[in-house]
Amino acid sequence: MKFGTKTIHAGQQADPTTGAIMTPIYQTSTYIQASPGDHKGYEYSRTGNPTRNALEQNLASLENGKFGLCFGSGLGAIDAIIKLLSPGDEVISTNDLYGGTYRVFTKIFANYGIKFHFIGMENSKNIESFINKNTKMLWAETPTNPMLNIIDITALAQISKKNSLTFVVDNTFATPYLQRPLDLGADIVMHSLTKYMAGHSDVVMGAAICKDDALAEKLSFIQNSCGAVPGPMDSFLVLRGIKTLHLRMQRHCENGELIARFLKDHSKVDSVYWPGFKTHPNHEIAKTQMDNFGGMVSFNIKGNRLEDAITVVSNMHYFTLAESLGGVESLCGHPASMTHAAIPKKEREKTGVVDSLIRLSVGIEDISDLIEDLEQSLAKL
Ligand SMILES: *Cc1c(COP(=O)(O)O)cnc(C)c1O
Repeated sequence: MKFGTKTIHAGQQADPTTGAIMTPIYQTSTYIQASPGDHKGYEYSRTGNPTRNALEQNLASLENGKFGLCFGSGLGAIDAIIKLLSPGDEVISTNDLYGGTYRVFTKIFANYGIKFHFIGMENSKNIESFINKNTKMLWAETPTNPMLNIIDITALAQISKKNSLTFVVDNTFATPYLQRPLDLGADIVMHSLTKYMAGHSDVVMGAAICKDDALAEKLSFIQNSCGAVPGPMDSFLVLRGIKTLHLRMQRHCENGELIARFLKDHSKVDSVYWPGFKTHPNHEIAKTQMDNFGGMVSFNIKGNRLEDAITVVSNMHYFTLAESLGGVESLCGHPASMTHAAIPKKEREKTGVVDSLIRLSVGIEDISDLIEDLEQSLAKL
């Protein structure tokens, strides 16, 4: 089955009792047993629910994995993955990562004796010097948020295999439409399904996907034991959203490219971060591991003044100022005061998250309206 067919069909069949085309919302916490243990495969909805299971199978198929596990949010998925570790274990993570991931690592799991190293992974040669006998996990996000750096998944998978580490890729920005990390040697793919996967800014959910039976068994034990599962209604919404993932992503990529090129030529704009530019430091790797470059574009303003960034994000009409990304509507954000406010100023500036940086999640509206909107807002400077 090809990708654009999997989005619509994988893990889903017509309801056997009524023939309903859409997977029903099995809004139930429990299931009848004829005699103790005699049931149809479901006992309790924390452990399993048919709507959620259809989504989990769909996700496994899209990522070319074997097992999908859904959680109440992307952070719920991250929480479950880190619970594979024990006190004393160490994780090497990219330094330019989603603020909430940084927060759960440093403010929650560090207190449980897990140690995190944050390093620039754009050059994979940096990584091995941080590996010691306690290192158990490599954590990468690519493209990164909000700097759109590209990390070489294949190179990290090799380092990870050589050192018997678990290699996790947060694939939220790319989605499996653009990039399939398990095919490149990653052990676990993590998603905030809240973003492009669900795609309509109407649900919060996360997932972990893998191929290995033993790893899946551990993750599913954590999922059931810790209980951060999504409900059937939300699972239905994500399943429905995914049916148009390939169409939406195609338009996100087209619009993203046109916006990146427009900004690059604009006199008020300093740097534009988008992996499709030939001048992007890891453009060649992006071309190898991604099928296109996505709809996320970041840029900063000449002079690097905080007030200028605030003026631009406050004066747009179609690019709504809001947290999150990946929905059909265009959003803009100011990482230094919003998504990355949890990261100390000195830390964030090292990675390029300066005061005038603006991050765009380019939606699927008509491109001429989007460009006109940016034009009029930048004209206020
Ligand atoms: C949003 C996001 C998360 C966290 O997911 P939630 O669904 O908000 O909990 C993790 N990683 C990335 C890259 C994200 O964009």
